[in-house]
Amino acid sequence: MEKDKRLETEINKRRTFAIISHPDAGKTTLTEKLLYLGGAIRSTGTVKSRKSAKFATSDWMEIEKQRGISVTSSVMQFSYQDHYINILDTPGHEDFSEDTYRTLLAVDSVVMIIDAAKGVEAQTKKLFKVCSDQGIPIFTFVNKMDRNGREPLELLEEIEEVLGIESYPMNWPLGMGQNFKGVYDRQLEQIEFYETKDKEQMLKLEKINNLNIEKVIGKEMFSQLHEEISLLNEAGNTYKKDAIQQGKQTPVFFGSAITSFGVPSFLDHFIRLAPPPSSRESSKGIVKPDKEIFSGFVFKIQANMNPAHRDRIAFLRVCSGKFEKGMEAWLERTNKSMKLSQGQQFFASERGNIDIAYPGDIVGLYDPGTYQIGDTLCGSKDTFSYGDLPQFSPEHFAKVRAKKALKQKHFHKGIKQLSEEGAVQVYRTAKWDETVLGVVGMLQFEIFEYRMKHEYGVEIQFDSLPHQYARWTSSEDIESKTKGSSNLLLVYDQNELPVILFENNFALRWFKDKNPDVQLRESR
Ligand code: GDP
Repeated sequence: MEKDKRLETEINKRRTFAIISHPDAGKTTLTEKLLYLGGAIRSTGTVKSRKSAKFATSDWMEIEKQRGISVTSSVMQFSYQDHYINILDTPGHEDFSEDTYRTLLAVDSVVMIIDAAKGVEAQTKKLFKVCSDQGIPIFTFVNKMDRNGREPLELLEEIEEVLGIESYPMNWPLGMGQNFKGVYDRQLEQIEFYETKDKEQMLKLEKINNLNIEKVIGKEMFSQLHEEISLLNEAGNTYKKDAIQQGKQTPVFFGSAITSFGVPSFLDHFIRLAPPPSSRESSKGIVKPDKEIFSGFVFKIQANMNPAHRDRIAFLRVCSGKFEKGMEAWLERTNKSMKLSQGQQFFASERGNIDIAYPGDIVGLYDPGTYQIGDTLCGSKDTFSYGDLPQFSPEHFAKVRAKKALKQKHFHKGIKQLSEEGAVQVYRTAKWDETVLGVVGMLQFEIFEYRMKHEYGVEIQFDSLPHQYARWTSSEDIESKTKGSSNLLLVYDQNELPVILFENNFALRWFKDKNPDVQLRESR
């Protein structure tokens, strides 16, 4: 069959990515500048206002308002130079959740922001690992060059050492802080000159070719640049496009998001270098994005974005073929067909309806309780699965119950739905059938409590547990093997698989020593 040229063209135009960073590195600022460049917002400050009191998309996002953080991920699409760019927002606060991890499974590349003064920070490290484990291409933006930070060479060294990835500086800064004069683009062999008014706005972006650089930046800075570039050329890594696309080398860009400096040229390089949607493994072999038949998977379910409707939205990443509103699709898990009548696209906090989507795009599907995280949807009866999304090993645990016994029914309904959404992991204790929650970030507890109260009318009593590690096992007779130990707790997950919760590393080691034949896994 002749390939659908239109489909191929649309796929090649897509760039779907997420930004990873430690809080305050400048994710919101960079996102906003990118949206501005794409004409998706008319003035900057729009995205920012999500952090202020203006944001009122739904009532449970009260938590966002109160804490000034973005709890939920949204999807933003804009076009730039004949490309369609999807930014999947990930919560940027310290206390992150499984949502963040799962969002990273739905992108084709990531942009990692590093604060020039702080270098590689804790959360960046964690998020980086999730991406590099999957071989996702990683683009680095070293931000806040308008302030005094660390030496660029030192930052590169830190990226290589701490994260274990080769770096290749795409541009090189001329000075820093008060003396920041611009960057030298190593591929275009030209400088972008930095000039601001009131430290807020970049006024002029001059592209000066090699011959005239010295005239513009002066003798001293020129000889330093010459020296540093020579050093990079001789002793630094060589540029390897393949390695970049396999996530083995990270191209590094220096800039200043707040003044927009370096952002346009970053985006230009990014759309050229970042891969379009590629093939994915499925239960029936590799699925290419230009396979005619539509397919995609649900990586996130979010409830009640609109309090007037009390609905849920399943976020579907399109992986192959074309999504069309109203089309028939089969849910792999149940093999039932359904009409995909509502396709919602997300832009910042607004929702709009979409009729057509291509691989790389994210579609929000109205979900009356049909979908589960990790579900695959196919455009034909001959379904396949993109596999279960990995469950992440929770690090915090608590016993929960409804404060009022009369609310049992609502309590169980809430627990069931919220665990299907992936908001929390739910277990029951082997001994008394008590409900235990497991989360990756403490904030998930807070959101859980809030939603149980506002969506299910149940007030929750929490008793936090001292356990820190969850280990799945399929070993026989696990009840007797765990009996009598005070620093572990045996629970069962929602698939009735036994999970041992350990209080600390010592307890974990002690158990392993005593039961060398018991296999323990970090996730299901
Ligand atoms: P997020 O928490 O990663 O989303 O970070 P924000 O984008 O909210 O930025 C955190 C703070 O750093 C804010 O006060 C920004 O104004 C500031 N900021 C962001 N980018 C820059 C930059 O390039 N230079 C300077 N000097 N400040 C910046």
